[in-house]
This record gives sequence, structure tokens and C-alpha cells, in this order.
Amino acid sequence: MLRLPRRAVLAAAALIGFAAPAAAQAPFPTRPISMIIPFAAGGPTDTVGRLVAQVMGNDLGQAVVVENVGGAGGTLGAQRVAQARPDGYTILLHHIGMATTPTLYRRLAYDAVNGFETVGLVTEVPMTLIGRRDLPATNLRELVALVQREKDKLNLANAGVGAASHLCGLLFMTAVQTQMTTVPYRGTGPAMNDMVAGTVDLMCDQTTNTTEQIRAGTVRAYATTTPQRIAALPDVPTAAEAGLPNFEVSVWHGLYAPRGTPAPIVERLNRALLVALRDENLGRRFAELGTAPVPQERASPQVHREFWQQDIAKWRPLIQAAGQYAD
Ligand code: ASP
Repeated sequence: MLRLPRRAVLAAAALIGFAAPAAAQAPFPTRPISMIIPFAAGGPTDTVGRLVAQVMGNDLGQAVVVENVGGAGGTLGAQRVAQARPDGYTILLHHIGMATTPTLYRRLAYDAVNGFETVGLVTEVPMTLIGRRDLPATNLRELVALVQREKDKLNLANAGVGAASHLCGLLFMTAVQTQMTTVPYRGTGPAMNDMVAGTVDLMCDQTTNTTEQIRAGTVRAYATTTPQRIAALPDVPTAAEAGLPNFEVSVWHGLYAPRGTPAPIVERLNRALLVALRDENLGRRFAELGTAPVPQERASPQVHREFWQQDIAKWRPLIQAAGQYAD
């Protein structure tokens, strides 16, 4: 039997030990990455996702290809990512729905709380309450009176239970103590087309979808859901200014990978996200759309996870009190 001196065995072991992590850190990515947007193309999350995907792709040296998997308030797209191979090639860009769906839905086909690795926060987007341009109400006070008088004739578009537009619509109906018929879409992009065409009446949606339509005058803006006015929409009053003090919400977005994605891959994705959030063109475009990238210190996987978990806890009692569930 071959006997090696103990020192040689230790040296060989050290070499193997040294080689193992190097093998685990195989180059990533070596092919395009699919970024799932859980809403229809042309909507607010799609707009944010495409801007981020492009800069991340440049940094990663591989295209980040946006795929829209809309439906069921964002849960179909989230499910696709939760059940994907945890190899970094399928990622999810989703919003505040990640914090509300664990309570809103009684049954989901994926683990909505532990099924993901957080990659980093992306942005917080204000919302605006808008209506079709020929609605007979020129400001929020008139709108509230109209809604209370004609609630059976007016409808409110949203992107399904779990969407930000759904949550914001609920807050609005609670604030004015009136129920309206809601019309669900696969995303607020298609809902906006119908509003511009005049076939839906009202919607509460993110500035990343509404700013340009408001400026063009194709829809009426009643209020922002922010404590201060938005620089991109200086003429639109805040809800509080316009007479509804408790009507505030903003829509945070984050990037996720399936649970079990190796830490070095999550770190690489996070580095690319940080580059995107520092990108000047992206910052300019976000500003034009009434939002901003989160500061770098808020974009770490750890900060994102803590923020997300706190937000689940924040919304749970409010959703339970409203008694609004989906199956
Ligand atoms: N973010 C959704 C979209 O992009 C809409 C929503 O959440 O209300 O269509």
C-alpha cells in the first residue's frame, strides 16, 4: 500500500479544499436570464422591469429578457418563479403584492413567504387616482360626491386581487365608504387602454403608468396617494389636500430569485441591480415617471428581506379587518 507522508496528505486536502469553492463559483451567467413580470406588458411594473433589465443585462454580459406572466393579481408570475430551478436564470420583479398576497389568498400553489431569495429593493412608486376624461367630476370632492351618488353605474379597474391597483382601490372605497363594481385585468396596461377609450371609469394606478397619460390629458387625475405632491405632476393635489386625509399608499418593488439560489449568484444579481439603480438614464426616466431608484443601502438582499417581512406583518391585520380574501 502506498503511504504518503502526513504533510503531503494535508497539502493535498488543502488543495482540494481550495478547489471546491472555486468549482462552486462557476461563471454566471453564461446564457440569457428570464425576468418574470407578473403583470401584462405596457403596465407600470413592466415599465420598471424593462428599464432595470436592460442595465442589468449590460452589466452581466447576458441579456435579461422580460417575460410577462400576468393574471390572478401577480400570483401566477410569482408561482412560476417560486417553482423554477434555483439557478439564477429565472428571476422575478414584483411589488407590494408580495406583502399582501400571503394574507389575501387562502390557497396558493407556492410558498409566498419562504419561496424566494431576496435580491434587493428597486423603487417605491406613488399612485394616482384617475378617471376617464369625460367623467362628470373635475376634482376629488366632486368625484367623491359622484361615486356616492352613482356607485351602481361607475366601475373601478384593477389588475386583480393582490395588485397594487386593487389595494389602492380598496383604500379609496374604504375612505369614501362606498362599494363599486371592480373590473379585473391582467395588468393596468390593458386597463389604461380601456380607460383612454372611455370604457372603464376609474382606476388607482402607479405613476409609472399614469404620468404620461395625465400630462397628455387622455385621463383625468384626481389625486396622488402621497404626503407631498409629486415633482413630475405638480398640478395634481395630494389626496389629503383634496379632502381625503387617510388615503396614502406607495408601491415598493423588489427583485427575487427562487429559494435555494446559491448565495454567490444572488450576490452577482444584486451587484448588477446596484449598477442599474445608479444608472443615470434609468434615474432620469424614473424621475420623468414620478419615481426614483432606492438608495444603494436599501438595495441589499438583507434590507429587502427585512422590509418585505415587516410589510407582510403591516398589511395582515388591515386585510383581515377588511375581510377581503381570494382563493
Ligand atoms: N403593477 C401592475 C401592472 O403592472 C398593476 C397593479 O399592481 O395594479 O399592471
